Amino acid sequence: MLYSLTPMTTTNDAAHAAAGAGLRDPNLVDQLSDGTKVKRRLLRQRACNEKDSKGKLCAGHLKRWYFFGDEIKRRFGEDAEIYRCERCKTLYLPNPDEEPRSGTLCW
Ligand SMILES: [Zn+2]
Repeated sequence: MLYSLTPMTTTNDAAHAAAGAGLRDPNLVDQLSDGTKVKRRLLRQRACNEKDSKGKLCAGHLKRWYFFGDEIKRRFGEDAEIYRCERCKTLYLPNPDEEPRSGTLCW
């Protein structure tokens, strides 16, 4: 696998606590120390399925994102394939059942 899901820091716990005991999203993979959610994309998912506090669907566009910092590099690798919602900034990992569009085999 390209990315390991091992929690690295104790601040991770704080982030989880800050997220509260809200609904668990089955696609939620991880949460960064700044509270940014990291989710797994559904197959062929193009739009964000996050819901705001009123339960409204975000539906922001998921775009390939290359400007992630060290925390993401440590967790998911230097060349991780990361997508980011352009509205709520939730991060998405590619679906393992989906062919990488770059054509580059990563694993
Ligand atoms: Zn979103």
